[in-house]
Amino acid sequence: MAAIRLYYEDAYLTETVTDITACIEEEGRMLVTLKESLFHAQGGGQPADRGTIDGVPVLDVFDREGELYHVVERAPEKREGVVLKLDWDYRYDVMRQHTGQHLLSAAILHRFGVTTTISRGEDFVNQIDLERPLSDEQLREAERDANAVMAEGRKVRGFFVKPEEMEQYKDQLRKAARPHDLIRLVEIEDYDLMGCGGNHVRSTDEVGLIRVLYAKDVSDQKTARGCFRVYFLCGDRALQDYGEKVASFRRLSLLLGCDPDALEGRVEQLHAAYERLSARAKEMEAELEGLAVARLLGEAREAGELTLIRAALPGRDTKGLKAVAEAVIKERRCLLLLTGSGENGTAVVLAQPKGYSGHKLGERLKALLAETGAKGGGSPFFAQATLPAGEEAARAAERFFDALEAEIGG
Ligand SMILES: [Zn+2]
Repeated sequence: MAAIRLYYEDAYLTETVTDITACIEEEGRMLVTLKESLFHAQGGGQPADRGTIDGVPVLDVFDREGELYHVVERAPEKREGVVLKLDWDYRYDVMRQHTGQHLLSAAILHRFGVTTTISRGEDFVNQIDLERPLSDEQLREAERDANAVMAEGRKVRGFFVKPEEMEQYKDQLRKAARPHDLIRLVEIEDYDLMGCGGNHVRSTDEVGLIRVLYAKDVSDQKTARGCFRVYFLCGDRALQDYGEKVASFRRLSLLLGCDPDALEGRVEQLHAAYERLSARAKEMEAELEGLAVARLLGEAREAGELTLIRAALPGRDTKGLKAVAEAVIKERRCLLLLTGSGENGTAVVLAQPKGYSGHKLGERLKALLAETGAKGGGSPFFAQATLPAGEEAARAAERFFDALEAEIGG
């Protein structure tokens, strides 16, 4: 006999005494079934209830084939006359969020004819998925409607109907109910009727506040299934979020030296300034690149068949060194041995004109990689490595260059 779900009769019942019908160990978890339960399983857009069974914490609750399984820390000591205690603060918050969801989904349907396909209430921020997008202004309108109905304190009640009785409710339902032996409908007085097995507050005004935060298109490209997700908060969660946002605006306005009301204009100003400076920084980078190339060409010296340039360019990683090497090679056929220093360590680049295969650079670099344990490699014409940060690796690079230079020069 599956547990009697007391919350269907009274969602405000926080404590009761009942019997354990079984304790089952399964995959390292201890599961308890009960004669009667206060605990709602996760599902239908609501998280599992929390609480205790004879003082033992309930970690999770799930529904399997019509039975409620309570995952507990350990098996309670006795089987009969155990005390169930619900974590009421948690449950009541969930009830407010979930009832707020009914109101918001109903308001969206009434005003815009848009159906909610899925609701989720397991995280701090609630979500509903709509079958098509709404503008920010439309969402504000639906939010206003939902809050107005909420404030009227309309009655919310759940009741069971048999499949053969469903005909009379068919036209009032917000969404077709899933077929079941016994269907539970939840009604918000003269406003909404929906098939739902969740817990709800008795009167809409207990929700307190419904606030849409934002929405975005989350359509699945693969299945081409349209989906528009709305994120919202209700009750104390909405107030908490409001408080945090006010504090965040205050911190930002202090940081940017303006009043909170002027924040948007100030950020726009800063963004425009950033765009200007970015463009200028790009121009200056190009100028510096030209100067670096000229400096390197000035340091070139003849070595065997090629011109050799060996230089240290602090502040450049392998990418930066490669850009300079390519610019130099465009001007003159030479072999470059460059070191730089990036965030991750000492950068090393060896480069020579494509088609010149006198020195197989990728092969030669292997000796340095073996000595320093660094990663890198390349082709006969270009090779790069990032050596670990520190003096030792930098000295190894210098020794490697010395040997290479002696060989080439001789
Ligand atoms: Zn519900």
